[in-house]
Amino acid sequence: MAKVIIIGAGGVGTVVAHKCAQHPEVFSEIVIASRTRSKCDAVAKAIGASNITTDSVDADSVEQLVELFRRHKPELVINVALPYQDLTIMDACLECGVNYLDTANYEPKDVAHFEYSWQWAYRERFEKAGLTAILGCGFDPGVSGVFTAYAAKHYFSAMETLDIVDCNAGDHGKAFATNFNPEINIREITQNGRYWQEGDWVVTKPLEFHRTLNYPNIGPRESYLLYHEELESLVQNFPTIKRARFWMTFGQEYLTHLRVIQNIGMARIDEVEYNGTKIVPLQFLKAVLPNPQDLGENYHGETSIGCRISGKDKEGKELTYYIYNNCSHEAAYRETGMQAVSYTTGVPAMVGAMMFLTGKWRKAGVHNVEEFDPDPFLAELAVNGLPWHEVLNGDLEFGD
Ligand code: NDP
Repeated sequence: MAKVIIIGAGGVGTVVAHKCAQHPEVFSEIVIASRTRSKCDAVAKAIGASNITTDSVDADSVEQLVELFRRHKPELVINVALPYQDLTIMDACLECGVNYLDTANYEPKDVAHFEYSWQWAYRERFEKAGLTAILGCGFDPGVSGVFTAYAAKHYFSAMETLDIVDCNAGDHGKAFATNFNPEINIREITQNGRYWQEGDWVVTKPLEFHRTLNYPNIGPRESYLLYHEELESLVQNFPTIKRARFWMTFGQEYLTHLRVIQNIGMARIDEVEYNGTKIVPLQFLKAVLPNPQDLGENYHGETSIGCRISGKDKEGKELTYYIYNNCSHEAAYRETGMQAVSYTTGVPAMVGAMMFLTGKWRKAGVHNVEEFDPDPFLAELAVNGLPWHEVLNGDLEFGD
């Protein structure tokens, strides 16, 4: 029985609140706090549970966060605001003795660059305070790391290649929309790609490498190599991995729009002068694009995200292993009013919080999800809307 504060009332925050409310035996009190309180109120109203209250906070301000935490005294904060707020929320947690969980690593607002170093720098302070911080507990990062830890625990003596494959085969009927916060999404995709090869990072041009991969129940989809944050911690925590890559599917229509957005300067993240006001083009673009939270109603199809791993099994024989989840946009919407991209992020965040609050993932310091026991997490994930499947010794489609 514990009180949690969910910060952020966007697509992901909405799903986290719905899923926490389904477990009052663990989450006895839930506070949803965000910049715009009316959004928190709407989520609380849609759920209609008596143990949910709302509040407002500017999570860029440590002072406001400290005041919020002192007032509510939560045991854990689930940070599903934006990556820009990670450090302020961690600072406030340290000041008030609150445990921490998030789904995306810190990014400074003015540089499109993400890495764990900023948050790993908090390790000693969390350890000394006896507090747990769980980093990257969405789907990818999140379940992708837990899947990898599960493979290492149960199947492999040495993992050698890891390919995380993320397919969204859904159709929302819009010419162009992003599935989560457009600013964060476009910053991620327009960066250089990067993958791990024999102890070093190999940098690629944005979306330079692509290949056709077959996804279960979906079929072939063009998949593009991107840099994704979980690669950084996974190659450290599983040092036998010689090559680690991340692939995401995009349709031609999406890529054409993205190219135009970049070519006309709308993906810029520096300030420009417009009619005497300073605006950031990408932030302005976000204001005119469809809101990811409104995509759910007409979204059809499925997502399929998983890990394809090769290496030596426990007896030293060659093994290939594929572990994945498929999630239906329609089913996610029926349950929470949100599409599958928000759903596949929010459910693992709730399960991670449950792992912490039930004492299964409790370890002072700052940790990535693969550092914890994957078994209880995956057992809960399967019964909370995201069942997963395994294929042993199948074709991983990376025979290069
Ligand atoms: P949204 O943009 O839909 O929601 C973000 C929420 O955070 C909004 O309610 C927003 O408030 C609030 N917020 C923003 N800035 C502040 C602030 N300074 N103070 C308080 N609240 C603030 O994003 P999503 O729900 O799609 O994504 C949430 C997080 O999940 C992001 O960090 C994203 O990177 C991560 N994510 C992780 C994935 C994974 O698999 N690991 C996949 C998808 C997303 P307001 O409404 O007022 O703007």
